[in-house]
Amino acid sequence: MLEKDWRADLSKIPIPISVKNDTLLSLSLETLIEGGRIPKEIGSDLHRNSNLPGLTALASMIKHSRFGNHVFFNENLHVNTTNVCTLACRFCAFRKGSRHNEAYSLSAEEFVSRIEPYRGLIDEVHAVGGLHPEWTIENYSEIYEMTKTNFPEISIKSLTAVEVKHIASRSQLSIKETLKSLKKSGLNSLPGGGAEILVDSIRDRICMGKEKSSEYLEIHAIAHELGIPTNCTMLFGTIETIEDRMTHFELLRDQQDSSGGFQCFVPYPFLEDNTRLPEAKLASGEEIIRVIALSRIMLDNIPHIKAYRMNIGDHLASIAINSGADDIDGTVGHEEIMHVAGSTTSVDYDSAKLARLIESAGQEPVKRDSTYERFESIDSELMSEILVLPIVGQ
Ligand code: SF4
Repeated sequence: MLEKDWRADLSKIPIPISVKNDTLLSLSLETLIEGGRIPKEIGSDLHRNSNLPGLTALASMIKHSRFGNHVFFNENLHVNTTNVCTLACRFCAFRKGSRHNEAYSLSAEEFVSRIEPYRGLIDEVHAVGGLHPEWTIENYSEIYEMTKTNFPEISIKSLTAVEVKHIASRSQLSIKETLKSLKKSGLNSLPGGGAEILVDSIRDRICMGKEKSSEYLEIHAIAHELGIPTNCTMLFGTIETIEDRMTHFELLRDQQDSSGGFQCFVPYPFLEDNTRLPEAKLASGEEIIRVIALSRIMLDNIPHIKAYRMNIGDHLASIAINSGADDIDGTVGHEEIMHVAGSTTSVDYDSAKLARLIESAGQEPVKRDSTYERFESIDSELMSEILVLPIVGQ
């Protein structure tokens, strides 16, 4: 139904000259209106050869056909459980060995005390971390249970696929048993991190030892089957090719066809500072916007595309929400992983500021909950006035 509605609405949007005059873009528009999808070969061609204003205009048309002028955000807090990790992904500046003097592992009490100052201000805690060599499912259950006891209203978005795999193996449980049990303890959704590029030859070079592409997809499929919604991500600008990015899109799209639980796709570029991948082909600003626009065009069955401002910065994020993205992360108190990797974007962004950023890009801010079920229209000048909106494109 969602497909039918947005494609019908897409056919009614006036076509900008930049799309009309570009054969590849106008054919892609026609394909989408007629219910088709863009094959990865055409995606590569669009990535390389389409004119940027036309590409972003097409992505923006699709975004408008699904969500109008609305751009979604939520109020969340990042708390990383531990930076101790048994792996050493080459792009990662966050992990530490267990004897490093900056290594930390939060107890359940410490985790809850990090949330306490934000009581009443957030509705989601985003918690990921390293693969702790000694932790088992008990550590995570305790953290989630204590969080839910103290903050029953807060949604827990936690664990990358490789963390789920690690916890399962450390606890001698299957992936399904692990997720089922953690759901019972309070886990509400998975953030989708760790997808990197879903091409094993690239993974072997940038994150040796991490789960295989098929395992990433399978873990998400099991979560979907258990009624745990997930996001999915892509780390680009390392050593992958444009074709690898398109393979990544295609795998996610196929997975969504079969398991259907991806809420949002979060593309983010590799940041070079303080990390260890000298051969990375860093993405330029233009390339970042191209990838975000292509995400919208290619991932026709994943509703939300995120401009991850903690990674790409406010300026590119405001361009991204006019280039296909409909979601912008978030008030994100205490984001750490991108910041140790070199991000300089300010943390602890409050809702009014974020709403102003969205408005300054000519869009309408809409506050959402963690799992895209409740929506509130926000006016940055009248932050106290909350109006419940009809849901667009859901
Ligand atoms: S990206 Fe995750 S799994 Fe890889 S080293 Fe960093 S914390 Fe560990």
